[in-house]
Amino acid sequence: MSGARVTAEGDRTDHLAGAEGAVLRADELVAGYLPGVNILNGSDLYVRPGELVAIIGPNGAGKSTLLKALFGLVKIRSGSVHLEGEEITGLGADKLVRRGVGFVPQNNNVFPSLTIGENLEMGLYQAPKRFKERFAAVVDLFPTLGQRRNQRAGSLSGGERQMVAMGRALMMEPSVLLLDEPSAGLSPALQDEVFVRTRQINRTGVSVVMVEQNARRCLQICDRGYVLDQGRNAYSGTGRELAQDPKVIELYLGTLST
Ligand code: ADP
Ligand code: MG
Repeated sequence: MSGARVTAEGDRTDHLAGAEGAVLRADELVAGYLPGVNILNGSDLYVRPGELVAIIGPNGAGKSTLLKALFGLVKIRSGSVHLEGEEITGLGADKLVRRGVGFVPQNNNVFPSLTIGENLEMGLYQAPKRFKERFAAVVDLFPTLGQRRNQRAGSLSGGERQMVAMGRALMMEPSVLLLDEPSAGLSPALQDEVFVRTRQINRTGVSVVMVEQNARRCLQICDRGYVLDQGRNAYSGTGRELAQDPKVIELYLGTLST
């Protein structure tokens, strides 16, 4: 058998086989918002250089909390996070951005009153001298952003805003990009564009961790995935292994996919 199935109390050694040389690695994360209430209950994750890793799971499982914990926006109560072998547990978002972690939150991820160009500038506020070079690189990936540079982000469609948000996170040339439900609320055609774009970004060498509600589609394009349930890894494996696992289908794909 492939060993794709990892139970909550499963074999950690097996689960973390392959974590060696990871760009980003989280071990046994416990985190939450309210005192005494843990949302993450010992979640593990790793991303190897150049990988696209998916996180799927039911609503409220803690997927957004996991990304926020990795990005220093939710306090980690125990466990550790390493970036390229160095411990970054508890480091703030601004420091993480400087060290090559990019994050696109699920909601409110653009400044609506600013233009596209200004939004991209905001992404580079820690390194403004690199604007010309990085703007060119981002516009290369998202030509529309260059053509509409002076348009206010608030006047854009949901799909276009998502491109601005991703573009902004790419301005600092991250080595790893965390995306929280980039396709949420978009039409099927635009959802597909988001997946294609994400793959494209990934192919430029950026490692990606992507939380997605469109689980089936996400498992098709990712290298590996994790199913998060109640703040724990319920299953992990390659996208194909997960998409074909009868338990994963029964428990998570039947209702999650549309
Ligand atoms: P997912 O992204 O998997 O849908 P979340 O990480 O957003 O799940 O939420 C996991 C749990 O944490 C939910 O029970 C949610 O109500 C709770 N939660 C999320 N954000 C907050 C917050 N800011 N304060 C308190 N509880 C929160
Ligand atoms: Mg979420």
